[in-house]
Amino acid sequence: MKLDATDLRYVTSDEFRVLTAVEMGSKNHEVVPTALIAQISGLRNGGTNKLIGSLAKRNLVSKVQNSKYDGYRLTYGGYDYLAMRAMSKRDSMHSVGNQIGVGKESDIYIVADAKGKEMVLKLHRLGRISFRAIKDKRDYLGKRKSASWMYMSRLAAQKEWAFMKVLHEHGFPVPQPIDQARHCILMEFIDAYPLRQISEVPSPGKLYSTLMDLIVRFALAGLIHGDYNEFNILIRRNSGEPIVIDFPQMVSTSHENAEWYFNRDVECIRTFFKRRFQYESSLYPRFRKIMAEGHSEGGNFKLDVIVAASGFGRKDMKILEQVSSTKILFLKYLILAPLVHGDY
Ligand code: ADP
Ligand code: MG
Repeated sequence: MKLDATDLRYVTSDEFRVLTAVEMGSKNHEVVPTALIAQISGLRNGGTNKLIGSLAKRNLVSKVQNSKYDGYRLTYGGYDYLAMRAMSKRDSMHSVGNQIGVGKESDIYIVADAKGKEMVLKLHRLGRISFRAIKDKRDYLGKRKSASWMYMSRLAAQKEWAFMKVLHEHGFPVPQPIDQARHCILMEFIDAYPLRQISEVPSPGKLYSTLMDLIVRFALAGLIHGDYNEFNILIRRNSGEPIVIDFPQMVSTSHENAEWYFNRDVECIRTFFKRRFQYESSLYPRFRKIMAEGHSEGGNFKLDVIVAASGFGRKDMKILEQVSSTKILFLKYLILAPLVHGDY
C-alpha cells in the first residue's frame, strides 16, 4: 500500500469527521454499522453515505457486508491517514517521501518537516497476518475478543516510543524520538547501513566489544533489547558508530525469561561475527555475572521501572508479549493454510 501525502490535504473536514467516527466505532465493533457512523459523526444520514463512499474509494475505509448488517471497517490506509494528520497538525511532519523498509510488522518511510529536514516514519503493522485466522484457537487477549490489528499496532508503537525516549534521554545510541501518534513513530533519520549489509569493518574486534558493551549497558539499566541482531544495528556512514533500533520487544531484566533473552541477543552477535568477519572471541557477557556485579555496585538505574512509570505498564507489555508468542502459531498457519487477508 502506498502512503499518499497529497491525500492529507484532500480529505475535507466532513470526511475527516466520518473517518474519525469509523475509528471510534471500531473500539467496540469489528464492523461499524453505517447508522452508528452517521450517529457518531453527527451528520445527516444521507450525507454520511456519500462521504463514506468517497473514503472507501480511496481505501481509507472498506465496506463489509455482514450477515446481520452492512458496515465499514477502518483500513490501515485510514489509520495511517489519521496518524499522519495528527502529526502534521502538530507540525512535526509535512510530507512523505520514499518507503525505505518493509518489515514483517512495520513499514518505514522517509518523511520531512516543513523545512525539508528528513526523518523516519515507522508504521507498525501488527496483524498483517490476520489475527482472525487464529482468534478462535487461542485466548491470547483474555476477554478482549474484538482486539484488532489497530489496537495491537498502537500498543507496539507506544511501547517502542516509551523505550526509545527513555534510552535516548539516558544517552544510549538510539535515534532521537520526535513524535508518536496511534501506530506510528516519528524519529531521527540515521544516515547508516544496517550491519547486515556491511561486509568489511576496520576492526571487527572493536565493533564486537562495542556491541557487547552495549548489551551490558542495557542490562545494567534493567533492559534487554530482545532482537539485537544485524538488522537492528545501524552503522553510521561517516563515523562507523553503531545505532540500535527496533524496540517493541524489549524486556526487563526482571522478566522471568530474562536470561534466555539476554543469551539470545549475545548469541546473535557472536554468530554474525563468526560468519561475516570470521571473528570469534571467548569473551562475551554472562547475564548472572553482570546482574550480580551491577547489584553489588548498587549503581543500577532501572529504566524498565522508568518506562513502566511513563504510562506503558506491565499489562500492556503482557498483551504484546502474548502476541509475540502467538507469532509462532501464525507461522504454522502460513505453512498449513492459505492466508486470510481480512483486515486490509
Ligand atoms: P522492523 O520492526 O520492521 O524490523 P525496524 O525498526 O527494524 O522495523 O526498521 C526496519 C528497517 O528500516 C531497518 O532495518 C533500517 O534499515 C530502516 N530504519 C529504521 N529506522 C531507521 C532510522 N531511524 N534511520 C534510518 N533507517 C532506519
Ligand atoms: Mg528490525
